Amino acid sequence: MNEADSQRAAALLWPAFEPGDSPETADVVLINTCSVRDKPQQKLLSELGRLRRIKERKGSMIIGIMGCVAQQMKDEIFKRAPWVDLVVGPDGIDDIPQLVAEAQQGQHGASLRLLRHAPSLDRSVEVKTQRSSALVNVMKGCDKFCTYCIVPYTRGREASRPPHVVMDEIHNLVQQGVFDITLLGQNVTAYGNDLSPRTNLNTLVTNILKEAPSIQRIRFITSHPMDTKDDTLELFALPQVATYFHLPLQAGSDRVLKTMGRGYTFRQYMDIVEKVRKIRPDVAMASDFIVGFPGETREDFLQTMDAIETVGYEGIFSFVYSPRPFTKAAGFEDPIPRAEKLVWLKELQARQNEITQQKFADMVGTVQPTIIEGPSSRDPNEMMGRTSCHKVVNLPLPKSAIGTMIDVRITEAMSNSLRGEAVAPDADQ
Ligand code: SF4
Repeated sequence: MNEADSQRAAALLWPAFEPGDSPETADVVLINTCSVRDKPQQKLLSELGRLRRIKERKGSMIIGIMGCVAQQMKDEIFKRAPWVDLVVGPDGIDDIPQLVAEAQQGQHGASLRLLRHAPSLDRSVEVKTQRSSALVNVMKGCDKFCTYCIVPYTRGREASRPPHVVMDEIHNLVQQGVFDITLLGQNVTAYGNDLSPRTNLNTLVTNILKEAPSIQRIRFITSHPMDTKDDTLELFALPQVATYFHLPLQAGSDRVLKTMGRGYTFRQYMDIVEKVRKIRPDVAMASDFIVGFPGETREDFLQTMDAIETVGYEGIFSFVYSPRPFTKAAGFEDPIPRAEKLVWLKELQARQNEITQQKFADMVGTVQPTIIEGPSSRDPNEMMGRTSCHKVVNLPLPKSAIGTMIDVRITEAMSNSLRGEAVAPDADQ
């Protein structure tokens, strides 16, 4: 979502400013920030020190902070880093061009209102791209208020973009050659609940595919189990919908899920997994986990270990719990030492790595429609692509293949990626 917001900021500043490579040569540096965990916030402060030195050396450079840390720290940023020129929360992106113009006149500026209906929701922008894949925000904010999560406080309540605005952005991207779209929302499965007339994700996706038939792949992230209804799952029957379903579980213990305020049990979560696998047996499940939530016991944690076996995730994002300001859980008793939580996290990640490896190995010999994104980071003479289940495949191909979707036979499973070979169109599959 931050990547999509950064692209919007760049599109709004164009053509007055073009994307650059380095702060050393830039006239404007915007740092987009995340406050879901503690670490990125600390990183921001050290990065600001580095930018201060560059600014002093160059004599002038506009520095702006955008995103959730900006929203959370507000004026504190100006106090701690007076060399920053502008501070913009997630709802203030559309004010960036004006704030940059004011900064050019030597003024400090901020846009930190949290709006039920931010201007960016109703206004489409023409994001410039040469890629075949693109991100499109379809809604912002979240109403769930999970007890550990800062998002409702920094991004505000759920608000959907009207379907015609989403469509305008998609038409613009399709005209530039995009055929792979990822629809984004903190809780994308709640899309349309707040719109009048009310609509839903199923209607949005089916209409996109009808109105933009050149789209070959579409994904949506992130889903909340409580809002994942049958009509969402039915989307997986569509051939264009990617075989990748990111459905955060967070913990395997019902007791912990309750204190997290997640609103479902593990059994209810599994009902969704079983239903989606009936519709699309090859769907790759992915999830997020918090380890060491306040009050979590070893027994609770072992239920998370069981959960990753039962679901059989292709991959997970897992972190040790970190208390966030404003949240309920920040006031919960937390008797488990951090060192022990880190041991649990390692245990979880080690087992998940084995499961992921097995999933990779199971794909050897299969043929996967793969979008070729660009040169491989391992070997610039090879190309890197992504399968429908979002796995990286490296393979020998000419540069001219970039931006195409081709069938790839998987030949080898590596530790974090796959190797493959292009299947000739007339080859016997
Ligand atoms: S559903 Fe996700 S974004 Fe919303 S409060 Fe819970 S964790 Fe945060």
